[in-house]
Amino acid sequence: MIDEDRLENLAALGGAPSFEEKLHVGRPNIGDRATLMARIEDMLDRRWLTNNGRFVQEFEHELSKFLGVKHCIVVCNATVGLEIAIKASGLTGEVIVPSFTFVATIHALQWQEITPVFCDVDPETHNIDVRRVEELVTPRTSGIMGVHLWGRACDADALSDVAVAHDLKLLFDAAHAFGSSHQGRMIGNLGDAEVFSFHATKFFNTFEGGAITTNDDDLAARIRLMKNFGFAGHDKVVYLGTNGKMNEVSAAMGLTSLESIDEFVDINRSNYERYRQELTNVPGIDLVTYDGDESYNYQYVVLDVDEAVAGIGRDELVEVLWSENVIARRYFYPGCHRMEPYRSLYPHAGLMLPVTEKLADRLITLPTGTAVDPEQISEIARVIRTAVKHGPEIRRRLAELPKSGPNGNTR
Ligand SMILES: *Cc1c(COP(=O)(O)O)cnc(C)c1O
Repeated sequence: MIDEDRLENLAALGGAPSFEEKLHVGRPNIGDRATLMARIEDMLDRRWLTNNGRFVQEFEHELSKFLGVKHCIVVCNATVGLEIAIKASGLTGEVIVPSFTFVATIHALQWQEITPVFCDVDPETHNIDVRRVEELVTPRTSGIMGVHLWGRACDADALSDVAVAHDLKLLFDAAHAFGSSHQGRMIGNLGDAEVFSFHATKFFNTFEGGAITTNDDDLAARIRLMKNFGFAGHDKVVYLGTNGKMNEVSAAMGLTSLESIDEFVDINRSNYERYRQELTNVPGIDLVTYDGDESYNYQYVVLDVDEAVAGIGRDELVEVLWSENVIARRYFYPGCHRMEPYRSLYPHAGLMLPVTEKLADRLITLPTGTAVDPEQISEIARVIRTAVKHGPEIRRRLAELPKSGPNGNTR
């Protein structure tokens, strides 16, 4: 256990790491193994491995029920899901989208030669700033793509008003938001369509996978055709399509994960509460909160580091944590507009994105989920408190050491 008064205890300054094994953000949650294995045996016995098999159909049915949405189409991953939703909705030209997201949101547009028009985010919610959206609309704009960051819903009503006023489609990247609600209704019912990710690093996983949800019958029909090469029957292709199908083993995992979802959320919530208790009153360190009456999945524990108050910078804190084998992540650093190809295509995008750039330089995500226990969280919090307590001294000593950690090249 770290002694908060003894700086030398920190691994970054020569002490032994607090954790022998690395603690990762997004370590998978796994449901009941025996149930999963029984499903896989069944699948092998039936020799039906993909192509809209029994598990995919059952999984889609259960998901629709869980989300209270009319159509749920499962796909091989959320990135392909976004590409299909974008194409099926008829987006072209320009789409207004936040840069403060995982790069797949933007790639899904650029892949189809649609121009992502980066919109800044709200400093409180970290979601697309509705007040900025309208001024970005041009004659080429065909849609808005919101991202429910950290599982907290975008201001869907206000976005919908802008979309209606300018005759735009409204899509949501809901990769973070499975199991979260908006105004008491499950996310999955907003805009024209929403796309979830069930990647292994998300709190609910199908190994790889995702789902597109919509209450629009025609859009759902197009999405179903598109994810299966446009096949409307044997030998009959009626539409441009791709291969976005989810396989049966992923659907089996999804059904099994769904049976444990309450447990996953409960653990995430109590982990989050523990972090919150342990980190209140640490100067310059603020936990991103989930308040109000909504449901959340609590899968992201996000810290905002105010360097001026904490006396230690975000990157230095990350370095201290990595040394302890706490592999905290800088989501979403540096911001999509500062990554290729966007950085070369739109070199001045940052001028319009002051909040995005500020958040990208301040936020840290910490390990949570079923792979982390409460004692480990307390220890992670002790490391953070120690680092802040001795911020200037740590900063001085780190500067004297050879570079390592996420900013260096030794790991
Ligand atoms: C994870 C993620 C994706 C991509 O999901 P995949 O299923 O891995 O393709 C897209 N957008 C956001 C915001 C994500 O976090």
